[in-house]
Amino acid sequence: MIRKICRDNNFLSLPSTNATRDDIVYGRDLLDTLMDNASSCVGMAANMIGVNKAIIAFIDENKYVVMYNPRIIRYYGKKYSVYEGCLSHEGKKNVERYEKIQVQFQNEDFKVLVKTYSGFTAEIIQHEIDHLFGKLI
Ligand SMILES: [Zn+2]
Repeated sequence: MIRKICRDNNFLSLPSTNATRDDIVYGRDLLDTLMDNASSCVGMAANMIGVNKAIIAFIDENKYVVMYNPRIIRYYGKKYSVYEGCLSHEGKKNVERYEKIQVQFQNEDFKVLVKTYSGFTAEIIQHEIDHLFGKLI
């Protein structure tokens, strides 16, 4: 189900709580909403659709990925500065991102996986995981 984009800064500033199997429906809504906004958005966190759970969805090159309870367990390489925007608020901002990250997360079967990402995909994941901590660009 496509949901409305949340632009309430107070809500978006709250840290998200752990997602469980009961929250898979929100992961699907998040994906539907991301796909609906594909022309202007490459990733979303669940609080952007008003759900305070640790779920993110993003495009990894050409395929969509949903992660439950993602966390960055390792950073590689240098930090670089990049100009990012966000569907939940106006304007763009300069932020620092790592070139490469290792992420631990659960998939839709709640199986724990570890994957390494670099470049633009790593940048998107860092942005979305920041949302889960209530951190906005
Ligand atoms: Zn954002």
